[in-house]
Amino acid sequence: MSDPVQELKDFKPRKEFFVGIDSDGCAFDSMEIKHKECFCPQFIYHFGLQSVSKYAREVWEFVNLYSKNRGCNRFMAIQYATELLAARKEVKDRHAEVPVLKDLADWCKRETKLGNPAFLAEVERNPSDEMKMIKAWSLGVNETIAWFVKNVPPYPLVEESLQKMTEKADALVVSQTPTEALEREWGEHGIDKYVRMIAGQERGTKTEHIRFAAGGKYPAEKILMIGDAPGDYKAAKANDALFFPINPGHEEASWEKLYNEGLDRFFAGTFAGSYQEELLREFDQYLPEKPGWN
Ligand SMILES: [Mg+2]
Repeated sequence: MSDPVQELKDFKPRKEFFVGIDSDGCAFDSMEIKHKECFCPQFIYHFGLQSVSKYAREVWEFVNLYSKNRGCNRFMAIQYATELLAARKEVKDRHAEVPVLKDLADWCKRETKLGNPAFLAEVERNPSDEMKMIKAWSLGVNETIAWFVKNVPPYPLVEESLQKMTEKADALVVSQTPTEALEREWGEHGIDKYVRMIAGQERGTKTEHIRFAAGGKYPAEKILMIGDAPGDYKAAKANDALFFPINPGHEEASWEKLYNEGLDRFFAGTFAGSYQEELLREFDQYLPEKPGWN
């Protein structure tokens, strides 16, 4: 198999501009179904959280949907979620045991390609009970998503926006979802034809996707990232790129704004500065940092 990161590094500009697009919760309205119906039940089952399922669900949804960590990589999410859950009074009062993910934390410090291929190789090297439990959860999530998540179309104006942007820009999917799921979802709705490449979690972090595919190949002011989570903004900022937020809960309005105004400004060179700052100010209001149950 070819090196998934090298393919990004070999990415060559064909157009003047570059656009990175996040998938879940940005192009697709798929965050709720994936987290509520797929990730969360598998979390409760594989981590033995049946006795505190209500709180496990609240925590999972806070981390992955309704906080500044929205859209983060699953192997990071599972650490945030177990830590937050273990600290809850209701969980302590019930003497429920929440697994401590020490081996996973060590692996995440060493590795940036936080996808199942690198993870499964690590479980081979270190088949601890903790790692085997996380493996069962992660594979269970993929299986559930494959049979459960269907007929979830892109948001209105996504296809029109892709059409408009790719007249002048090379487009890349920049995501922390497994590539096989991304290819299935972009292919199912016929919008994979607009993007030059699909970069999932196996190709590294979102920051790395942009850096390897676009860094030094386009001027920074001609690189735009579109996303629905603070992590997407961080990936743009780390590359000095511009960022257009798809505001959680207001996705349609955001795509309308991008289609009617944002893309024109990006191509005209009037996006940076006050327009960018205003977008970021608004985006920052939508997701809290701290949970409301404390
Ligand atoms: Mg997202």
